[in-house]
Amino acid sequence: MTLTHPAYGQLRQVTPTAAVLLADNPGQMTLDGTNTWILRAPGRSDCVVVDPGPKDKAHSAKIAEVTGGEIALTLITHRHHDHTGGIDHLVKMTGTPVRAKDTGFLRGSDAPPLVDGEVIEAAGLRLTVVATPGHTGDSTSFLLDDAVLTGDTILGSGTTVLDSSDGTLADYLASLDRLVEIGAGKALLPAHGPDHPDLAPVARYYITHRQERLDQVREALRVLGPKASAMAVVRRVYADVDKRLWLAARSSVQAQLEYLRAEG
Ligand SMILES: [Zn+2]
Repeated sequence: MTLTHPAYGQLRQVTPTAAVLLADNPGQMTLDGTNTWILRAPGRSDCVVVDPGPKDKAHSAKIAEVTGGEIALTLITHRHHDHTGGIDHLVKMTGTPVRAKDTGFLRGSDAPPLVDGEVIEAAGLRLTVVATPGHTGDSTSFLLDDAVLTGDTILGSGTTVLDSSDGTLADYLASLDRLVEIGAGKALLPAHGPDHPDLAPVARYYITHRQERLDQVREALRVLGPKASAMAVVRRVYADVDKRLWLAARSSVQAQLEYLRAEG
């Protein structure tokens, strides 16, 4: 079977255990849409779902269909709606328990919040919970034997925007270092955009990109003065970027300014 790209509504096998179902919610922040990951150990009928995706009954129904409803556990990478909006439809259709760092997304009677370093055994799989804050405070990655599910911490294309409400650049850079460390030789399974065979070079590229942006912001502050607003910095640093992306860029620049101002 040949899959068109983007392959909405079609389950695409990526690694021996991981398959992806792309939600039909394309946009500037979601790229082609949200990737719902379905993890199944060889020979098992039950599975683990990572990110139910947006509030979209058709997408939830598709997840229920391709899993046969046998979802041992659903995991959440972070709080944003395009990852969590579909929780309640999926729970209603399949009864899956749901675990997340944020207690507001827990479903099922025995579903404690995720803890950094915890090893989860479900549906014949072993996943290690890796706290990777920065995109948001609750951003979590999941480590498998041969792959890492990175949520929005590392995307399949483009770069990650930091949520100014609780995403910090200091956290984010530390998370990228951690992903370089654990990701060597493991597939990158992001929440948006295409997968990659090796996470480490992508994580290293992200670090380089952030350092370059920091240098540009430092340079802008030398010209605009140390108290320049985030938007003034955006107009200078992102002059060559589509203006529709400036609001999102402001959020990242805000995080960069906080990082640089904390550095002193
Ligand atoms: Zn997000």
